[in-house]
Amino acid sequence: MTKYGFLGLGIMGQPMAGNLLRTGCELRVWNRTPAKCAPLAREGAVVCEGPAEVCAGSDITFAMLADPEAARAVFASAASGLGPGHDYVDMSTVDARTSKDLAAAATRAGARFLEAPVSGSKQPASDGSLVILAAGDRSLYDDAAPALDAMGKLKVYLGEVGQGACVKLVVNMIMGGMMTAFGEGLALAGRAGLDGPTLLDVLAAGALANPMFAGKGPAILDGSFSPAFPLRHMQKDLRLALQLGDDLAQPLPTAASANAAFIRARDEGLADLDFSAVCRVLGV
Ligand code: NAP
Repeated sequence: MTKYGFLGLGIMGQPMAGNLLRTGCELRVWNRTPAKCAPLAREGAVVCEGPAEVCAGSDITFAMLADPEAARAVFASAASGLGPGHDYVDMSTVDARTSKDLAAAATRAGARFLEAPVSGSKQPASDGSLVILAAGDRSLYDDAAPALDAMGKLKVYLGEVGQGACVKLVVNMIMGGMMTAFGEGLALAGRAGLDGPTLLDVLAAGALANPMFAGKGPAILDGSFSPAFPLRHMQKDLRLALQLGDDLAQPLPTAASANAAFIRARDEGLADLDFSAVCRVLGV
């Protein structure tokens, strides 16, 4: 029986690990806040004392952590458990530099490394319908395929480590800009005395129709921001995308403006709400 490990049981990690467990594998888990391991333990996962214990007991360990700092810190604690036959797949959204550093450290330990950030939020994580953007060791991608298929509806292999991180940051940069444009539109419509639900119907019927506006729009109008994708993570992704643009001399004025709105929202205490709460600082 394949032995998998999972590090980081937040909004995304918890349901992803649950889908892995339901493949009938042996699953070892760890989370910084131990209480979050309890639901998986009830389903049969083995709760470990630390990341190294997870990796040492697993053929492949998956990580789903908040940001580059968390990904690096947890990898550092995991490294002594890595080696031949104990490989590592980081699914967190991080920058390419972080992924490359982790890949080099895993290789030094004799383990294979894959980055595999995901597109899709809490519900797709629960449904096993994420889009997985993998890059790195091709043989590990092939060996991890059954696990990736349990978590996602589509997986793509993008080549060199760093490519997955870059695709993910481009996607989220576009999403952040779309959300601030949407928020400004809703705010302007409100000021002009237009009916919010009617505006949503008009948007849904035309070329701007998309699942994000359709899914988030009614909740935004209700002022309901229960977190599926926390605002702090969207601001982190915009920050990393802008850094990438700076490195490559690519101007990103729309993303810079969106980032300023997300920073304002974060600093006004909205960091742990859904990223659509940026609409609050835009006047919706
Ligand atoms: P989350 O609910 O905030 O979970 C973050 C996880 O990271 C938790 O397990 C947390 O542990 C852990 N963590 C944070 N700092 C740590 C540290 N210094 N040391 C050890 N563990 C640490 O976030 P999420 O929504 O699951 O997102 C996880 C990753 O997926 C992020 O990179 C995010 O950008 C990306 N992502 C999220 C979505 C989404 O819709 N939510 C979609 C696609 C990608 P504790 O439980 O102890 O806090």
